[in-house]
Amino acid sequence: MKKIETICKTFLWTGGTYASKRALLSWDKVCPPKTAGGFHVLDIQIWNKAAICKLLWNLCRKKDKLWVRWIHLYYGKKQEVWDIKPRNASWIVQKIIKAKRYIEVVGVSMKEVAEWNYFSIKKCYNGMRGQLLTRSRLHAWGVAEEVNCPLCNEVEETIDHLLFKCRIAGGIWNKLLQWHGITRTSMEGQREIQWAEGKATGNNAHAQVYRLTLACAMYHIWNERNIRVFQEQQKTVEVIVSQIVQEITIRGSKNIKTEKRIAEIDYYM
Ligand SMILES: [Zn+2]
Repeated sequence: MKKIETICKTFLWTGGTYASKRALLSWDKVCPPKTAGGFHVLDIQIWNKAAICKLLWNLCRKKDKLWVRWIHLYYGKKQEVWDIKPRNASWIVQKIIKAKRYIEVVGVSMKEVAEWNYFSIKKCYNGMRGQLLTRSRLHAWGVAEEVNCPLCNEVEETIDHLLFKCRIAGGIWNKLLQWHGITRTSMEGQREIQWAEGKATGNNAHAQVYRLTLACAMYHIWNERNIRVFQEQQKTVEVIVSQIVQEITIRGSKNIKTEKRIAEIDYYM
């Protein structure tokens, strides 16, 4: 997932494989569907949740702090501190204790948290934010009811499914591979990226155009997903592929070598 995000970021910020100083789109504008869906869950709010989680961790660990001692003394006599229900407590104490649901939703138990020697707000934030919010992740947050992939509507949506395993995404990849003259069908995400790392490294035009294709395709598939979810419109595989090719052509034309390579593969199509 990290790799996918890095590739997408490189693509969006530099136009692919060559260094351009201009950011074309802010990653945050592309990445979170939250704002588009009217959820208005800003990253800063997730950060805030992560910070509250740290307070909760403090509550479990830092018994030398005055406010922590006070809460333990006051509420936590018979039970674990995260299990107390401080109905009469101030809202901030309630908020801190309720933060355990943020932790549990990302699959971490409070027992584990209580054993950690340190707590990184950043790691917690990343865990809560995820790289891209797919429907199954949103589902875990209690936001979306629909968990099926918006492209094929057949399988639960995960990033790996959406970008690679999905029948529709697979159709897009296969056409693009064909365009590159590569005679194999698309693979699942991890392997697709490994393949690109192995075969499409370096600064030769072949590799650059291949990497550009990978980034561009992931971006357009993600975009299509958002259009389907939030605007209830959809494009066919053919239209998406032609848009991807068009974009690769425009971006590739900034460099003579890649421009030549694209003209070459265009000839075969
Ligand atoms: Zn699908």
